[in-house]
Parts: sequence; C-alpha cells; structure tokens
Amino acid sequence: MLDFIIVGQGIAGSMLSWFLLKDNQQILVIDELNLSSATNIASGITNPITGRKFVKTWLADELIPFATSTYRQFETIFGEELLHPLSIIKLFDSVKAQNDWSVRCASPEYLAYLKNEQVIYLDPAKVKNDFGGFEINGGSRTDAAGFLKHYRLMLRQKEQLLEEKFNFEALEVSENFVSYQGKKAKAIIFCEGANAIENPYFKFLPFQLAKGECLILKIDDFYNDKVINGEVFIMPTPVKDEYYIGSTHEWNYDDDQPSEKGKNEILGNLSTVLTAPYQIVAHKAAIRPTVKDRRPFIGFHPEYKNVGIFNGMGTKGLSLAPFFANHFAQHLVTGIPLMQEVDISRI
Ligand SMILES: Cc1cc2nc3c(=O)[nH]c(=O)nc-3n(C[C@H](O)[C@H](O)[C@H](O)COP(=O)(O)OP(=O)(O)OC[C@H]3O[C@@H](n4cnc5c(N)ncnc54)[C@H](O)[C@@H]3O)c2cc1C
Repeated sequence: MLDFIIVGQGIAGSMLSWFLLKDNQQILVIDELNLSSATNIASGITNPITGRKFVKTWLADELIPFATSTYRQFETIFGEELLHPLSIIKLFDSVKAQNDWSVRCASPEYLAYLKNEQVIYLDPAKVKNDFGGFEINGGSRTDAAGFLKHYRLMLRQKEQLLEEKFNFEALEVSENFVSYQGKKAKAIIFCEGANAIENPYFKFLPFQLAKGECLILKIDDFYNDKVINGEVFIMPTPVKDEYYIGSTHEWNYDDDQPSEKGKNEILGNLSTVLTAPYQIVAHKAAIRPTVKDRRPFIGFHPEYKNVGIFNGMGTKGLSLAPFFANHFAQHLVTGIPLMQEVDISRI
C-alpha cells in the first residue's frame, strides 16, 4: 500500500511529494500536464517587500531562506541553475512614498532587505522614475517552469507519476485507506491549484481565484540584472533582451486565456514605467489559487480524514510552497501540529 496519492504537480504538489519522499514515504503523483498552469506561467519572483506601503512579506525571514536552500538542493540534483538572485528596484510614485519608505528604513526588521537607504535614480531614457526608487535585497527569480520539467522527469523515471486527468468517480474513500484505479494509499492529498474549486470534497473552501496575465517583451540595451518594480514589474528572463512584464489580477473573468483587456491593462501600466522602445514577443495567462484571507489551505476534510488538501499558494507559491510542504510533510509523518493560520480547520 502507498502512503500518499498526490493530485497535481504544480509547485505545491511537487514540493509536497518531495518532502514526503525525503521522509521515505511511498507516493504516487497524478497530474495532467498543463503547460499553462499557474506555476508554468509565473514570473518566479520572490520579493521580500511588496505593495504601495512597502510591507515585509508574511514570514519572509523564514520562507525565503528555506525556499533558497530547497531550490539550491534541486540545482545540485538536476545539474541546472534554478534560482537567480536579482536586485529589485521599487520605484516611488511621489514624495510621500519616499517619506513612507524612510519611516520603514528606521525599523530594524527591514534592515536585512535594504541594499542602502539612499534613493537611487535610473536612466530616464529607459525608465520613468521622477521620484527615484530604492533597492531591495534578498529578491530572486526562480525558473519555475524549468523546475517542474526536471521534477516531472524525475518522478517519471522513478515510476511515481501517473500522467492523466484525475477522475473523481474512480476514487473510493474507505475509513482506513483510499483507492484509485487499483492503487491503494493511506491518504490522498489534492494539490490542483485553481482547479480545486471543482473538487467535490473541498468546494466549501473560500477560494477567491485571480486570473493573471503577463507579456514577454524584447527590449534592447535594458537593465538585465534588476527587476524594475513600478505599476508593473519588468524582469529579465533567461533569453537575451527578453523581459517578463507582469501581471494583472482579475477576480471576474470568463476564461483562463490571454485577453485584449489584460494586454491593454499591462501596456497602460507599462507606459508609466518604461520609456525605452519594445516589441511584444508573447502574451500568457493563468489562474492563481488565491484565498480570501491570503493564507494557504492545508489539512484534511472534516468528515473524510484521509482526503487532504495542500493549496491556496495565491500570488507567492514559489516561496510559500517549499516551507509549507515541509511543514505539512512533518505533520503527516511525525504528527507535529499544523500552524493554525494555514490549517483549513480555521474556516
Ligand atoms: C501571471 C502569474 C504570475 C505569477 N507570478 C508569481 C511570482 O512571481 N512569484 C510567485 O511566487 N508566484 C507567482 N504566481 C503565483 C504562482 O504561480 C502560484 O502560487 C503557484 O504556481 C500555484 O501552484 P499550484 O501547484 O498550487 O497550482 P498549479 O501550478 O496550477 O498546479 C496545479 C497542477 O495540478 C494539475 N491538475 C489540476 N487538476 C487536475 C486533475 N483533475 N487531474 C490531474 N491534474 C490536475 C494541473 O495540471 C497542474 O499541473 C504567479 C501566477 C500567475 C498566474
């Protein structure tokens, strides 16, 4: 008998299966390949300070070092670079924003994320930055699609992957085990990203999905060692002179496809940041598994004690998933209590 069946091989299912494997658990991952999943479309930025109010990301001091060391381990296993440290330039949009920032600078918990306290100015022929910006330490870009590709190959080679759409009608849930197409496991854990809203066991969870669209632009002679963060962010990609521009947050949407509305929104916001000429290379979209209270959904169904969920990574899956996959795996294997903030029993 298997220990766990895991449905979904986005960043959530990959990380959870990895930490369970490290704890010698017998697992099977079921995933229908989707090259437009949220993880495949994500820019992969980890940014310790976000938003107009320059707020430190929830649990940044724990999540970021843990994610960094996890992706570094995978670089050794896969023999390929996945994590690229990048300096992030957050642009000010007013003198008030500059003042708000200097108040933040006085707080010791922000010190680790400040390159220096000076306002810096970029070339106005490239970036509109009348009020300058500040440089954030500790940011990075993770090659999320590259990670998924390598991890999938590894699961396939170990014969721990079933590549198909999960069929709920084929799932039998008994008191002490679950069975799916002749395979028995102690429990099943769903990591389906935004598809969770169609999961008959977890429909009661208050997801608040958000569609995200992004553009890939070609920009010659631009900043290829920095993320420029204004109304949109401009992030270098591994392809020379190509930049990821993102992203929209749309709560009312008709489908998961790139739209004219999304493109125009990005280009409108981009015009407040970018002064250099550009060409559009690609336009992509995916649905983020966001949650009303912005905390992951982890735990087991209130009635079916062997049907679990690991989801709700929202806008920050690349940094949240490694830490909370390890946390959940520890809970499953050694019985440590789940953090109340992420446990679905909070609902
Ligand atoms: C435009 C955009 C930009 C983003 N930028 C960032 C960023 O810079 N940094 C960051 O940290 N996060 C970012 N995110 C958020 C991040 O992508 C998500 O938090 C994360 O990818 C969610 O991962 P997941 O594994 O839960 O879901 P997904 O990546 O969607 O994976 C779910 C997997 O489950 C599979 N699946 C679902 N249902 C079934 C089924 N019935 N049968 C079989 N397989 C199934 C799917 O095929 C898929 O492989 C961004 C998201 C978007 C859309």
